[in-house]
Amino acid sequence: MNLPDCLFCKIANKDIPAKVVFEDETLIAIEDINPAAPVHVLIIPKDHIVSLADIKPEDETVLGHIQVIAASLAGDLKLADQGYRLVNNCGEWGGQTVMHLHYHLLGGRHFGWPPG
Ligand code: 5GP
Ligand code: ZN
Repeated sequence: MNLPDCLFCKIANKDIPAKVVFEDETLIAIEDINPAAPVHVLIIPKDHIVSLADIKPEDETVLGHIQVIAASLAGDLKLADQGYRLVNNCGEWGGQTVMHLHYHLLGGRHFGWPPG
């Protein structure tokens, strides 16, 4: 399902351009427009899911697929040896600004902990 006014639905539909890193039937991976690291890819399910707080049992397959593709992309992007971070920001306090579920694949520098 797609929402007409959702940024990531529009990107998944190719109504708004993005630098596509990977795409298949269920998800699209694009370069973040405002990268927070040398590698910053957004992994976005094509179906509109608002946030991690909104997932349903039937979303389990696509959520698992996102992790498999994240690991595969991290390998392709030469991040696996030094390490990388896969992040989901959920809701206002989690820092989510686009209300369509997505994961940030970040790499190419050292990340601190705890996050800000
Ligand atoms: P959030 O804060 O919701 O976890 O992450 C949203 C991300 O989407 C941010 O890192 C932001 O830079 C990125 N973003 C916002 N608008 C666009 C856009 O139009 N194109 C792309 N490629 N990324 C975007
Ligand atoms: Zn959407």
